[in-house]
Amino acid sequence: MSEYHKPLPKPSPISAVLRLCAMEKLQKCGGCGAFIYYPRPRCPHCLSENLEWRNVSGRGKLYSYTVVRRASSRAFADGPYVLAIVELDEGPRMTTNLMAEPEKIKIGMPVTVAFDDVTPEHTLVKFKPA
Ligand SMILES: [Zn+2]
Repeated sequence: MSEYHKPLPKPSPISAVLRLCAMEKLQKCGGCGAFIYYPRPRCPHCLSENLEWRNVSGRGKLYSYTVVRRASSRAFADGPYVLAIVELDEGPRMTTNLMAEPEKIKIGMPVTVAFDDVTPEHTLVKFKPA
């Protein structure tokens, strides 16, 4: 692990929940059965408050992506990198980075979660080709 220079989220109760759900669990609605990402107090589909945390597979498929070649700031000038939307096998879509060469990417390709320990305190949730 080299020194990491990009901005990182400040740890908070909200970031801890987001990290938990991205790494191992998602909310599942007891009313309609839908998995939910990001976490919230009510189901966005049926408004039920009957939500439980369930383990998830960490697998999905590439729904959409763009290759960032011109960074919006110096902190992100290590590109090109792939900004992706992954549709998890459980249903929700998640914005993330895809750790792959841009020339080898195809919409719909299977992907799996990859945890990038960028500092001892921060693990970023990314995806890689399955
Ligand atoms: Zn629901």
